Amino acid sequence: MGKKFFIKTFGCQMNFNDSERIKGMLKTLGYEPTQNWEEADLIILNTCTIREKPDQKVLSHLGEYKKIKERNPNALIAVAGCLAQRAGWELVKKAPVIDIMFSSFNMHQLPELINQAQAGYKAIAILDEPPEDEHKIWEYPVERDNKYCAYVTIIKGCDKNCTYCVVPRTRGKERSRPLHSILDEVKRLVDDGVREIHLLGQNVTAWGKDFEKPIPFSELLYEVSKIEGVERIRFTTGHPRDLTDDIIEAMADIPQVCNALHLPFQAGSNRILTLMDRGYTKEEYLEKVYKLKEKVKGIAMSTDVIVGFPTETEEDFEHTLDVLEKVRFEQVFSFKFSPRPGTPAAEMEGQVSDDVKTERMSRLLELQKRILSEIAKGYEGTVQEVLIEEEKNGELIGRTTTNKWATLKGDKSLLGKIVKVKVNKASAFNLECELLEVLR
Ligand code: SF4
Repeated sequence: MGKKFFIKTFGCQMNFNDSERIKGMLKTLGYEPTQNWEEADLIILNTCTIREKPDQKVLSHLGEYKKIKERNPNALIAVAGCLAQRAGWELVKKAPVIDIMFSSFNMHQLPELINQAQAGYKAIAILDEPPEDEHKIWEYPVERDNKYCAYVTIIKGCDKNCTYCVVPRTRGKERSRPLHSILDEVKRLVDDGVREIHLLGQNVTAWGKDFEKPIPFSELLYEVSKIEGVERIRFTTGHPRDLTDDIIEAMADIPQVCNALHLPFQAGSNRILTLMDRGYTKEEYLEKVYKLKEKVKGIAMSTDVIVGFPTETEEDFEHTLDVLEKVRFEQVFSFKFSPRPGTPAAEMEGQVSDDVKTERMSRLLELQKRILSEIAKGYEGTVQEVLIEEEKNGELIGRTTTNKWATLKGDKSLLGKIVKVKVNKASAFNLECELLEVLR
């Protein structure tokens, strides 16, 4: 019987893509995936520090998973990701059941770490800086959950210093993946039936700036679009500061680039944006959005917002609502500010009470609900292109180029096809459609 692994992933798309690569590595080592941790020989928790109290959450999972060792004393437990990077040995002291620990810098060392742990040592690989051979990670295959849409990590780390964020500490400086390595992976993916490529990074729009001979991100978009079989291109997350005109032009010019962009604005007040060290003003952000909307017709915007950043007043918060009204985002990921240990914002005077954050958050959600229902009405009766990703009991599920979920009647033969549909009924999160034509 081959060995089995179970992986639990927390957090963002980057973490999910890291987990897909860990799964690919483990398969090359002869491990098979299982959905049941109780039968695993290796359990991996790929952690995140963005949510509140990540340590407690991970410790509580470890408390449960450690029971595996009663049945299978050789089973190994690993903790990976941002919490591993931030907490390191502290976490191992609290949970001695951990056999292996590695951050995103050390993912490529997993095979050696497993060997060390199997030999009875604690295998802990936590470095302050990414090692020189970090690029080896790109040589491993990726085990994807979605057959038609694939994430491709193009840059790791972040050079910005947003005062609330732990990413520069947990994922390090920006390191762009070489162009040929990205294009090779995209070619393999389309050969494998993938139709939508989702370029991923903490700050994708900064890709290529750290090369000896810098390459603009817009050029990467053109290069990916030239690969035969690439039907759609998305990218996440862009920083407003790095969203230059050439990127906007490329988005308008390249037919495969989807009509959607996630552009976090975080707060509407210029005073709060300065405290966050975001490097742009409300007016500059809006100017970029208006330019995008003018050049990329019908583009759907999505964003991240932090409510209740230290010292945020009612007037500051109203600027946030104003940005929502002006941009009319199709998706808003809103979070109440919660201090992350070691970040400047955690130490700032003027922390906002939870009651105030809750009250502001509910107003923001109320406003967004109204905007979403108005946007939904606008979809009704329109014709859209949908990439079919899933079939469940005679219902097909896919996404429009504006990243809206759509459902329609149909069978499995349409999986992976791009179809033309008419939207009969639209709600905030779903479009009920009928099939008009199979396009490709
Ligand atoms: S740009 Fe994003 S990842 Fe980078 S520091 Fe700011 S919030 Fe964190």
